[in-house]
Formats: sequence, C-alpha cells, structure tokens
Amino acid sequence: DEKPLHEYLEESASVYGEKKALYFLGKELTYKELFHQSKALARYLQDLGLEKGDRISIMLPNCPQSVIAYYAILMAGGIVVQTNPLYMERELEYQMKDSGAKMIICLDLLYPKAVNVKPETSLEHIIVTGIKDYLPFPKNKIYPFIQKRQYQVLVKPEQSYDTHLWTHILETSDGEVTPVEVDPKEDLALLQYTGGTTGFPKGVMLTHHNLVVNTQMSRKWLYNLEGGSESVLGVLPFFHVYGMTSVMNFSVMTGNKMILMPKFEPEDVLKVIDKQKPTLFPGAPTIYIALLNHPQLKKYDLSSIKACICGSAPLPHEVQEQFERITGGKLVEGYGLTETSPITHANFVWGNRVSGSVGVPWPDTDAKIYKMDVDEEAEFGEVGEIIVKGPQVMRGYWQKPEETAQVLSEDGWFKTGDLGYMDEKGYFYIVDRKKDMIIAGGFNIYPREVEEVLYEHSEIQEAVIVGVPDAYRGETVKAFVVKKAGSDITEDELDAFCRKHLASYKVPRIYEFRDELPKTAVGKILRRTLVEEEKRKLE
Ligand code: ATP
Repeated sequence: DEKPLHEYLEESASVYGEKKALYFLGKELTYKELFHQSKALARYLQDLGLEKGDRISIMLPNCPQSVIAYYAILMAGGIVVQTNPLYMERELEYQMKDSGAKMIICLDLLYPKAVNVKPETSLEHIIVTGIKDYLPFPKNKIYPFIQKRQYQVLVKPEQSYDTHLWTHILETSDGEVTPVEVDPKEDLALLQYTGGTTGFPKGVMLTHHNLVVNTQMSRKWLYNLEGGSESVLGVLPFFHVYGMTSVMNFSVMTGNKMILMPKFEPEDVLKVIDKQKPTLFPGAPTIYIALLNHPQLKKYDLSSIKACICGSAPLPHEVQEQFERITGGKLVEGYGLTETSPITHANFVWGNRVSGSVGVPWPDTDAKIYKMDVDEEAEFGEVGEIIVKGPQVMRGYWQKPEETAQVLSEDGWFKTGDLGYMDEKGYFYIVDRKKDMIIAGGFNIYPREVEEVLYEHSEIQEAVIVGVPDAYRGETVKAFVVKKAGSDITEDELDAFCRKHLASYKVPRIYEFRDELPKTAVGKILRRTLVEEEKRKLE
C-alpha cells in the first residue's frame, strides 16, 4: 500500500469518524476531531513557512498534542524530529543543530529551554502547548501524578511573531492544508534519534513507507485483529519509535482507540487498565516487571488485556508467565531497532512461540547470522551478528554517510550490532550487543546470560551486568542489583547462587545494590551510564 502515513488519519476519520481516537486522563477525542485539529495545525505550520522536507521538532510527552503535532507536520509536508522531553539544553541544542529543525512544538514547561537554545540553532518558531489546553486542572484531581507544578509554566509564553500558542492556532486556523506531493518510498517522514544507550545520538532517516509497512506488518502478522474494536494502552512514549509505531501509528491506521499515559507510574497504569479496559498493551520488560511487583497489584482487574508485544530488552521467562497468568492475555517477545522502524522479528501471538527467542523475521524481512569478523554466514546455533533486510530498514543516518556505510550495505543489508543465533526452525535468539560483550581473562562473557541467572532469583527485581576495567583480567564482571521490596539478600548469597548456575569466569566479582537503575524513555536500563560511572571512579 503506497499511501503516505498521514493519509491513514484521513481514512480513519472517514471510516470511524465519531469513534474515539484517544483517551487522555479523562478527556477523549474522536477521529474526526483528531483529523480536524491536525489539519488546523498543518495549515498554520504552512503559514509559518513550512516547506516540503523541513524538519520540525516535537518535544512532548504522550498527550493529544503529540499525536496531532505528528500528523500535522506530515500533512504539511514536513519531517518529524522527535525530541525527548527530558532532554537538557545541551542535548536539545545538539539535536536541533544536527537536524536543522526550523520549528519546535513543545510543552509549556519546556518553553524556557526552547527559548534558550533558539539563538544557537536554526529554530525560527516555537509552538507552545500545555496539558491544560485539553484538561482543566480541577477535573484532574484524580490523577495524582499530574502535579500542580506541571500547570505552572515557568515563563508564561505570549503569542508573538516567533512564539505561537496552541489554543490560538486551533481557534484561528481554517484547516485548508495546501496539498503536498509525497512519495512514500522516497520522502522522509521522520528523523528519529537513536536512544543513546551507546555513543552520540544519530538521526535515523525513516520514510513514510518504512513506518506504514511496519505498522501493517504488526496488524496482520502479530495481532490479526479487526480494526476499530481494540484499545491500545500507550505507556511507551511516542517520541521513541517503538511507542510511535506500536501504539500511535498502529491505532491511527486501524481506527483503534489509544489510551495515552504521559508518564509511567505503575499504580496509575494499573488503575487505567482496571477502568479503561485496554485490550493491547505493547511494552518493555521493565514496565511489566514494575507492574507485577507492585504491592497493590491484586486490587486491580487486568483481565481486559488480550495481547502484548514486549521488546527493547530480553523478556525474562518468569515475567512472561506471571503476566499471562494474571491478565489471561498473551505476552510475546519481539525484537527491533530504531533503524528498522522498529520491529524485524516477533513470536506469534496466537500461534507458535518459543520462550527465550525473539521469534521469526516478519513478512518481507530477511535475516541472517553472520560470523564475527569473517564474511560468511554462520551455522545453525552458531553465534554471530544479526543482519536484516526489509521494507522497514532505514535510508541511513542523517548527514552521516560514513556511519551509514558502516552499517548499511548497498544491497540493503543492515548490520544490527546485535549478536545472536538461529535455530533449525528459523527462530532467532539474541545473545547480546556486540559492544556490550565483556572480555575477561580472554573469555567472552555475554552480560545477558548472567543477568538471566540473576533474574531467576526470587528476591531480585532488576539486574544489569557491566564490564569494569581490571588490571589482571582486562575486564571483570560487575552486577548492579535492585532487590525486591522486603528482601535482605546478601552479596555472598548471590555469589553462591550464581556459582551454581554459571561457569566461574562468568560469575560477577563485584555486586552493588541500588534502589533503582538509570533507564531510557522506554524503560531500558542505561548500561552506558553505569559503565561511565565506573570509568569515572578510576580517573
Ligand atoms: P542506541 O542505539 O543509541 O544504543 P538504544 O539501545 O535505546 O540506543 P534502540 O534502537 O532503541 O536503541 O534499541 C535497539 C536495541 O535494543 C537492539 O539493538 C537490541 O540490542 C535491543 N533489543 C530490542 N529488542 C530486544 C529483545 N527482545 N531482546 C534483547 N535485546 C533487544
């Protein structure tokens, strides 16, 4: 299907017009309203000078505006640049400079940051919106995580030649969008900066086709459900490609309702499931782990959940089992990267699945295992780098031809940087990231294998393994561990447990207990932050 992504919103508005498109903290918008408001903003952006191919940043948590802004930019012919709302000025400035964004659509709380970086970047206009544009505060008392603080804008923006208020835009724009020719296969829809668990963020160039196809694959292959009858829980942030595809674009393209959560607070998620009864709940392991370990879990009814895809990090078997027991729904593991829009592999929700495997490649997607350091395909079961080719693979990194050439071959094979193997049935297993592999005393150690053992321990909530410099072994294995509430497990007990299940060279030599671990926006543990902390200790 060769339509640009935003045309699916128009289609859903005509097929499902009065149906609810989204739910946000008690407020709902229909598909017609969503389409109408997106057109209003698109026209306004064109009036501000948006031309085809201009990059426009969105710096918002999940809220109605994050959906409207996204589709409006595409309708107007622009390229969306997703900006993490938690970015500090330095990070924001880097991204605005790198992408050359002309405008930014940001939360009122973040307005001072946008103003501060504007002179150093190519930003010409700032569009400001607040939660209160959709949700008057008094009605919202039932949602404790929206603090009063979030309603107090630090510097009150006023409509001016370069600052534009959301409410003013919706009131004044006529919504008559000047049509823009978009070639879905050629034209970019998105510059998505890599999560940053490794190195400097790079702008991943994704076309309309990349994004549309990935959503269609999940619709047919993963869920095989009718459009218009499901509701999708949007805990994953839309400013990351995983939430964008699996919740936002999926819902819009299938006329389903999305339930937006601006922030991950476990008990609020439990409450929303209980009350709003979502049927699909894409997530990441840390999200499900936090819910399952919540002391109030039993108070809530989670039986509306039918199917969940879990990606971004390995899904521990116990978590899968426990979640399925409690909800009665299916939780299956998938795999992908920002560079692949994101999903390339998954297990079947309604059919065969193999626990511990990320499943099989999606339709039209080829995947191979390549031997490390040799230009040759690996045998079944042999570990090598996973490479993929398919319609969801990016066009390259924005203005980084050398980095692109390192990972993307001319005939379209993308090197994922992940190590894994394939079994004889074609199921893939992720072993670890190439760059995370620890070499201690000449042995290769995959952090994931050690983490899995720790996760099997009933008193451990979260664990991450990093390699720390060691004068004798080159590197040595260190474990950061979060205990479950009430546990007083000791280092010696953990050591004895690991020694039972792992060869001695893999056993952590150092343990550090923490109350929590640093995480990315999709809840992936930020190994790099921990590695850097360790390095700094040695300086
Ligand atoms: P950066 O690319 O900057 O390091 P990031 O890790 O957040 O940041 P993403 O594109 O969000 O980048 O994540 C993709 C990576 O997530 C994959 O390369 C893989 O290592 C990991 N991943 C995704 N799904 C799984 C899974 N099911 N099991 C194990 N690892 C996974």
